[in-house]
Amino acid sequence: MNRAVFPGSFDPITLGHVSVVNRALPLFDEIIIAIGINSEKRSMFSSLQRKQWVEKVFKDEPKVRVDTFEGLTVDYCKKVHARFILRGLRTSADFEFERGIGQVNRKLAPQIDTIFILTEAEYTPVSSSIVRDVVRHGGDISGLVPDVVKL
Ligand code: ADP
Repeated sequence: MNRAVFPGSFDPITLGHVSVVNRALPLFDEIIIAIGINSEKRSMFSSLQRKQWVEKVFKDEPKVRVDTFEGLTVDYCKKVHARFILRGLRTSADFEFERGIGQVNRKLAPQIDTIFILTEAEYTPVSSSIVRDVVRHGGDISGLVPDVVKL
């Protein structure tokens, strides 16, 4: 089975994330959206809340599974027998960041490759951190996140 892991914080899931998954679906038999639990990175939303939102978004898509994980992404990929890591690319800053992670991941696990999907132009400015800022200041996040993300 051709399986990919889409790792991230998804704090919260945005329309940019949804677009990356939908566009990658034809490439894979299964995509596992893997919510990283990092005890040193404070999240705005609980892992349970983040997972429930992602599950709701993809409830009618049988090729998408949602999970949480701790530790190295490549170790998680080995555990679930995934040969591919899926990531989105918005800007050149994303590229530099992802290049480092991708190349180190190749060293750690040469059998696993990272596949990048270039973001849709309209979602380039969308990030979970901007969404969190808008939330903090009481702004309207519709248009940035899927409808299921209700505060
Ligand atoms: P992380 O904490 O690992 O950066 P995120 O949840 O912020 O996790 O992002 C997960 C993945 O989704 C990353 O590859 C990121 O580049 C990608 N991504 C985030 N926002 C967008 C967007 N608007 N368009 C395309 N890809 C995106």
